Amino acid sequence: MKKLPIKSFSASKVLGGEVSPDPFNLLLPVVRSFSFHHPKEEVKPIEEAWRVAKEKHEGQFRASGEPYISHPLGVAQILADLGSDRQAVMAGLLHDTVEDTTYSLEECRRDFGETASLVEGVTKLSLITKELSNAETIRKLILAMEQDVRVGVVKLADRLYNARTWRFMPPKKAAKKAGETLDIYVPMAEKLGMGMVKTELEELSFKYLDPRIYEKVVEMVGARAGARDKYLKNMMQEVKYALKAYGIKATVTGRLKSYFSIYRKIVLLKKSFDRIYDFVGIRVIVGSTQDCYRVLGIIHEKWLPVPGRFKDYIAMPKSNLYQALHTTILGEDGQEIEIQIRTEEMHKEDEYGVAAHWKYKELEDCRSPEWLGRMANWIKDLQDPSEILPTLKSDLISEEILTFTPKGKSIFLPEGACPLDFAYAVHTEIGNRAVGARINGAPSSLSCRLKPGDSVEIVTSQQDSPGPSAEWLDFVVTPKAKNKIKRFLAKEKNVEIMEAGKSALFSYLLDRKIPFSPQFLAQASRNLGFSNLQQLYCAVGSGKVNPSALLRPGPRKRAGNEVSESEKYSVRVKGVEKGTAIELARCCNPVPGDPIAGVVTNFRGVRVHSVKCPEFIRLSEETPHKIADAQWKGQKGKFKAELEVLALDRHALLADISLAISNACIDLSSSRQSVAANLVSAYFSFNFWDASQLDLVMKSLKQVEGVIEVKRVAGR
Ligand code: MN
Repeated sequence: MKKLPIKSFSASKVLGGEVSPDPFNLLLPVVRSFSFHHPKEEVKPIEEAWRVAKEKHEGQFRASGEPYISHPLGVAQILADLGSDRQAVMAGLLHDTVEDTTYSLEECRRDFGETASLVEGVTKLSLITKELSNAETIRKLILAMEQDVRVGVVKLADRLYNARTWRFMPPKKAAKKAGETLDIYVPMAEKLGMGMVKTELEELSFKYLDPRIYEKVVEMVGARAGARDKYLKNMMQEVKYALKAYGIKATVTGRLKSYFSIYRKIVLLKKSFDRIYDFVGIRVIVGSTQDCYRVLGIIHEKWLPVPGRFKDYIAMPKSNLYQALHTTILGEDGQEIEIQIRTEEMHKEDEYGVAAHWKYKELEDCRSPEWLGRMANWIKDLQDPSEILPTLKSDLISEEILTFTPKGKSIFLPEGACPLDFAYAVHTEIGNRAVGARINGAPSSLSCRLKPGDSVEIVTSQQDSPGPSAEWLDFVVTPKAKNKIKRFLAKEKNVEIMEAGKSALFSYLLDRKIPFSPQFLAQASRNLGFSNLQQLYCAVGSGKVNPSALLRPGPRKRAGNEVSESEKYSVRVKGVEKGTAIELARCCNPVPGDPIAGVVTNFRGVRVHSVKCPEFIRLSEETPHKIADAQWKGQKGKFKAELEVLALDRHALLADISLAISNACIDLSSSRQSVAANLVSAYFSFNFWDASQLDLVMKSLKQVEGVIEVKRVAGR
């Protein structure tokens, strides 16, 4: 095994970021990088794939205006830099040809053999409806990855290149892509151990998912950067001296943590922004595993370790094979700083993951990670594809713990899993018949949380098993357990509900002497948005839809001067039937004083919008015949409104907000706060006399540091 110099794996190099020095040979950086990692391999087939891809994509362009071929080329370069094998690099060049050009999969297979299977795995399903296409794509991807994990690596390279060009996309679309990337592709990169790809995808997704939060974090980190850098420099110097004194050869580097990891740390650990020292870390890279432990000893001798923060991932690697020692010490002035200690091999493993294995080992040796098999089995078993995304998301995000059967067989489970998850992981029948558990020999409930290293024995009942119950769904966390329990319950319940709904519906129609032909029922269920009658029966049976909904006609806008008044709000709408329901639109929440207008909806009466509301403007352009005049009944008197203030949590935030409110001389009637994901949502109810007072207080609230958004919510 040839060892590569550590320099070539430096994290500072951008994957696939090189531009060819020769304008007539754009493939050059790909070939160079590939040959660096695989010196003995032939490059001819790569050049051939490049020729075909270039020819097929001729005349196509990216949203950025560049020729389309820049994308496959960039993807191939990322793959080459990762150290991927030849087929993967070729698949990078060809990955969009089958989907976007006249080139067929058969032709690809004829020309490039095995590479075609990789291309097929990466190609999207285009036949499925739009709504399901995401779930279906992921489903297909995971199944393809189980066959050949390189499909996932190519897909991740593709996503990384695209993420770098999100700025050419409409912000909403980019945000959607970013959310999906954060939910699915980032954790996937993590599971495959591809640290560099993961970190960059994560940062780009964070930036485009909610630019407001991203910019706040960048702004607040930036304000503290000077002190942070000085601290890091001093600490690195101290560590270097300490190691030198013991004659240990080591590379000591500083790490500025990514904005996303800072954000997540604040979310998870509820830390304040003021603790700037959490934003940096130190990495020590040494030549051998023994040296890792020696370095740890030297550091723990010199500085006080923070209890509970030492992790030995060398003795107990993560499920993605990550290895290192992590510790947090109290450094200068008692400030905490995290130190990671690892060998060069471990470092490379962390950055390149699965991709790096191909260089050193035979392909057959590159087993797909354990979770991939688990996910693939679950997906094959799943009936409702819309469940894929939420479930996959939660499974991917959670850390894994290792547990054991009484016979010592290891079972990986997501953190937070309970004995029932364990039971289903072993076998469906064991889950369905489970009545209790023994953890490390001690009796325990089925719902308690398992810890790493637990040995779990499931107690099953042989005959009169009570079977899965709906409560079980409250505490199981694995997709497999959820799926199996739901399936068991659905079998029992569904028939019952459908029958109940059908008879309720029929007797309702019979009572009113309404003839119900199959055509009438089919039309009615379509009107209500169901794709078949069974769905309608189930919805009625479960109480989600009232039978009367079948007969409800939409309110019609009339030319006359008929007026409907709301009892709940002091609003009057012209030109609609008397008694039509009137609601204030949730998108803009107009308050007295705002110019307003009504929009006649199909089933829900009239929605009253502010005329400045973007949604209203869109509706009035698309369906002008549905717009009705609306006015406030009395312009005088005291009104109530509620404001929502969204801000990043920080010290003294609420005090500053209160100050802003009292400065605006407004009559505060109540307030409440909730904190989620370290974003504070504070709600304030005001009494006010006209809308201009509200504008004033909103303006001063927006100036408070950390405040991201101030908006009106329904006035009650
Ligand atoms: Mn692509």
